[in-house]
Amino acid sequence: MSVTSGSRFIHAEWALLPDGWRQANLFEVDSSGCILSVGSSLNKASDAQLDVVIPGMINVHSHAFQRRLVGRTQRFSKPNDDFWSWRTQMYAEVDGLTPQDQRVGALELYREMVANGYTTVCEFQYAHGAVSRDNAEIPALMADSLIGASKEAGIRQLLLPVLYQQAGIGEQPPTKDQRSFVLDTRVYLGLMDHLFETYGSEASVSIGYAPHSLRAVGYDALSDLIDHRQDNSPDSPLHIHVSEQVREVNECILGTGKRPIEWLYQNFSPNSSWVFIHSTHASRDELNMIIKSGATVGLCPSTEGDLGDGAFPLAEFIQSKGTFGIGTDSNVIVSPVDELRFIDYQARIRARKRNAFAFDGLIGSGTRLYQKALEGGRKASGQPVGRLESGSFFDLVELTTDHPLTADRSPDEVLNAYVYSGGKDVIKSVWMGGKPVG
Ligand SMILES: [Zn+2]
Repeated sequence: MSVTSGSRFIHAEWALLPDGWRQANLFEVDSSGCILSVGSSLNKASDAQLDVVIPGMINVHSHAFQRRLVGRTQRFSKPNDDFWSWRTQMYAEVDGLTPQDQRVGALELYREMVANGYTTVCEFQYAHGAVSRDNAEIPALMADSLIGASKEAGIRQLLLPVLYQQAGIGEQPPTKDQRSFVLDTRVYLGLMDHLFETYGSEASVSIGYAPHSLRAVGYDALSDLIDHRQDNSPDSPLHIHVSEQVREVNECILGTGKRPIEWLYQNFSPNSSWVFIHSTHASRDELNMIIKSGATVGLCPSTEGDLGDGAFPLAEFIQSKGTFGIGTDSNVIVSPVDELRFIDYQARIRARKRNAFAFDGLIGSGTRLYQKALEGGRKASGQPVGRLESGSFFDLVELTTDHPLTADRSPDEVLNAYVYSGGKDVIKSVWMGGKPVG
């Protein structure tokens, strides 16, 4: 049945809407994959019938090429093995990476993301393959390879080409190992112009800005990037790694007299379109700056755990009305529920309590955590995703009730079973832009 030309009507027995669970839903979806209306399906025909549906998760932080490191970095390499020793192994992996390698690896990875319930990925792309930092030809091909892979896999992408220029605060020259990340500011901004022009009108692709970190970008280059964004795409997301490591915070204090987030607020006034990746070692005052400005924190629990980064104070952050999204970062794990479970258990262990967040008891802890991560993911992606409501993309995950973990349960219990005990085994289908993927 298609009453409005080009529209489809899709029934969902249960759906997690922005204001909670609702039974017997009829979604009207237009030809571009956007939801036109959400009404009752009682006594109405439909083009497709779904079981329990939830918005697809947004992965706010991925480096596709780092999936190549899986299984290869878990051997002790030196006393005090840590983020910095892992980074040396990562540098070796990216050296010589071609656009073709990037495409093959990203396609495999993005298919895995979709199978696990991600429907949008924010790809923080710094594997530019840039042996010549004066020419954007190879970086453009590297970017194209990621976009091509996301289209083929059926996942929406925010591509974040990265500006990376130095080895540490104080304009330390990049090392030989870092050469494939490095672009001159002029070349980087030319690459951004090219990508906006090429992909600006596509529904499944958007482009944002990503100064790598204060370690890798100095004041002048960051100013130029921010001016370019202001002139060309002021609302596009801006993502930056920040305060992942204590050493990084200390170097920033030594070089600037300020902590990294504090320095950014003093110099650039970040707003709600900024995304601070990690923020693991942010001070209480810095977290308050983030919350006050409406910016989002991008947490990557599995990678932060794998690298021994430290623990982010999520329970306190949520209680203070902070917004967070989840990312797979190094892609050591590619599952939203693994990320949520990990961060929830971290909070429970710290607090020695179950359901450790300040929840109201009306819905399950897993549902609330999932909703919170959607909210941050929506802001971080800059796209109308993460909500099943009129005007948003019909990007969703259908959970089955025909599985021992989910049978004979309320929809809320089905989602909690998915978050705490399930995985892709309880996913029945994944939809992106109004169509099933795969
Ligand atoms: Zn990262």
